[in-house]
Amino acid sequence: MDRRKFIAGMGLTAVAAASPVSIGAMERMTSKANQVPSVSQVPKTGKLKLSFFPYELKLRHAFNLARYSRTTTPDVQVMLEYEGITGYGEASMPPYLGESVESVTTFLNKLDLEQFNDPFRIDDILSYVDSVDENNRAAKASIDIALHDLLGKIMGQPWYKIWGYNPEKTPVTSFTIGIDTPEVVRQKVEEARPYKLIKAKMGLDQDQATINIINEMMPDVPICVDCNQGWDNKEYALEMCHWLKEHNCIFVEQPFDKTWIDETAWLRERSPLPIIADEAFQRLPDIVRFKGVYDGINIKLMKSTGLYEAHKMVTLARALDMKVMIGCMTETSCAVTAAANLSPVVDYADLDGNLLIANDRFTGMTVENGKITLHDRPGLGIELL
Ligand code: MG
Repeated sequence: MDRRKFIAGMGLTAVAAASPVSIGAMERMTSKANQVPSVSQVPKTGKLKLSFFPYELKLRHAFNLARYSRTTTPDVQVMLEYEGITGYGEASMPPYLGESVESVTTFLNKLDLEQFNDPFRIDDILSYVDSVDENNRAAKASIDIALHDLLGKIMGQPWYKIWGYNPEKTPVTSFTIGIDTPEVVRQKVEEARPYKLIKAKMGLDQDQATINIINEMMPDVPICVDCNQGWDNKEYALEMCHWLKEHNCIFVEQPFDKTWIDETAWLRERSPLPIIADEAFQRLPDIVRFKGVYDGINIKLMKSTGLYEAHKMVTLARALDMKVMIGCMTETSCAVTAAANLSPVVDYADLDGNLLIANDRFTGMTVENGKITLHDRPGLGIELL
């Protein structure tokens, strides 16, 4: 196909999807002297319409971390509609992030998205959303994710393709084993058999016992260690990093409290394993601050305010020669699949949040032989169940 016809085809597909009322007008345009239509030629008459509802995520197992335990996660499901096409997003709010169903719905109620009649003005729309109030990162992410789903559907393409990423380069995803009794850890490791990477939560007395069980049951599988700020002694942490290195561990995530910058830099300088920032790391400017403190960052859409900023984070971290991990909260397949679109260009993925809940609303990316598998559906690549 020559370039002119290809461009014409792309324009028509996008316009047909975006605006059923404009199809007749577009046909008349194309019949005239082979004009090449483009999306920008079509008057934008639609409005972005936002709707949302609270949706409590039920966890399959109690989730035990160094600092708390829980069986549900509050969540708000978001829909963004434009000329008959709906994009889906969500805000997931694990308690330590400080957001709640009430704070998210209050924030979403403040938004006036109907002022935008061109959904492709991503920068204008998301800059406005970011300016409405401070923090509210999960609430902002819900709009960003729904907008990306909507735009991908209008363009008829999944986001990993729009960004030019090779879906064959997706990494394996880790399967998380929480802090628990040896019997429960054994059960969880049994469940983890199909996975090629294990994430072990640390921070309490049984750290070495958990790793020993994983080593014994899955001797060839690498382990990433996540302390969730649970260690409080830098000499102990350094000793553990050396021990972990000898026990199939490949990196340590958030060893200390997020405010322990000097202690973390001290550990990073001496540790044989890379140190990755999670709770300490939220928005794009943090990356520059953390060069020399952490070896890498764990990007989560509920912290980054969504895909638009997460995409910039990947670029900046790579330019600074830092490792990039893509993670998630407990979320439905909506937000997890959104994040999976970025996974072909990251070093590590921890995208099992949808597998931890019993009431997913979507089908999306799948894990096959432990590897993230992206599908060809437009937008985020999700469908309502
Ligand atoms: Mg973490």
